[in-house]
This record gives sequence, C-alpha cells and structure tokens, in this order.
Amino acid sequence: MTEELFRADAYARTCEAEVTAALEGGVCLDRTVFYCQGGGQPGDRGRLQLEGAALEVVDTVKDGGHIVHRLADGSLMPAVGASLVAEIDWPRRHRLMRMHSAMHLLCAAIARPVTGGQVGADRSRLDFDLQGASIDKDEIAERVAGWIAEDRPIRFMWIDADELDARPELVKTMSVRPPATSGRIRLVEIAGVDLQACGGTHVRSTGEIGALHVGKIENKGRQNRRIALTLLD
Ligand SMILES: [Zn+2]
Repeated sequence: MTEELFRADAYARTCEAEVTAALEGGVCLDRTVFYCQGGGQPGDRGRLQLEGAALEVVDTVKDGGHIVHRLADGSLMPAVGASLVAEIDWPRRHRLMRMHSAMHLLCAAIARPVTGGQVGADRSRLDFDLQGASIDKDEIAERVAGWIAEDRPIRFMWIDADELDARPELVKTMSVRPPATSGRIRLVEIAGVDLQACGGTHVRSTGEIGALHVGKIENKGRQNRRIALTLLD
C-alpha cells in the first residue's frame, strides 16, 4: 500500500520515496504526494527525481488498489528499491485545488443531487438533478462569490465507514463513493456552507479560490442541468 500523503496535507509538494514496483504502466512508490485520479479530479503530473535522472510523470491513476505514476513514453524505468524525490506540478495542482473547492460551493449553492462532474485546471463542471426545482445563474454566482469573499475556513475530519453508512446525506455525489483510508472516510467542511465526504484536494479557505466566472446553465436531459465554473486568474 502506498502512503497517501496528499490526503493529510494537500500542500505537500515533494516527498522522499522508494520505488516498490516499476512496470510498463508506471511506477509505484511506498509513499507519495501525487493525487491519483478520482472523484472527478484528475491525477497529478510532475516528476520523479533520481540520482542523475528526472522522470516525467504524465498522470497518476489507481490500478488494482495501487497508485501508479504514469511516465512519459520511452521513459527510463527506475529499479525497485531506488530512492527518489517525488515532486508534483504545483501550479497545476493548486489550480485543481481551487477549482475542486469551488465545486463544493456550487454544490451548496444549488443543494440538489449531483449526477456527475469533472474538475479541470481552468474549467470545471457539475451536473445536477433538479427534481423539479428552478435555478437562477445570477443568484448562484452571487452566493458563490459571497462565500469566497467571506474567506470561510475549509477543514477535515475523519469518520468510520460504518458511520458514513448511517449518514447517507454526507455523500452528495450520486455517482462516486469517497475513498476509504484504512476503513476511515474523510469529511470536508466549509464552515457554515457545506459538509460532505470527499477524498479530493482542497485549499485552506474559500478566499484562496479567487475570482470565478459562472457559466450559463445547460440542459442535459429533462431534469439534468450542467453548470461550469472558470477561474479568472
Ligand atoms: Zn472535495
């Protein structure tokens, strides 16, 4: 099992690690700061710095329970047991953290079940099942901007998987069950705004999200509506 350092500290950019497997698909490490694709958030990119060589990581995915750092085509493969420094592409990750945190605000502003979504470094979207409710783009934009201006803290807490089963309202993404780390599930709280189970990476407070543009509401079926957010800087 890879120790998932990004779950406890989203701001960790580098770590020392040892290679536990090196396959055609990529490299597994004993610990990593690379977020692996999941919950609508893309996997990290970056590099693995070995003595005398830097290997480019083009994506990070989960494969059969293992976190795989996918290397660029034709890359040299490190030996099992080799020591290295793993370093994420921080500017990209920080944008993903801002976008991902903004998705929580959008989710809270609309307060309807989420049926799908995708986080990107510049643009992200969520799909909602409106269940007959009507929504207004300007109202949503105003609520989200208000929470960002209030710079509300974003915190974590951990609960047992059993407790999550007893509190289904904490799972707001209909399509995704959050990952468990040793039987524990992480809750993410945006003070006074949102509380839900989530394994993604977030900024420390809503002010760090910065200025956003809320796109027009798109019809995606009878009850489904898609809303996209774009970072303005
Ligand atoms: Zn989240």
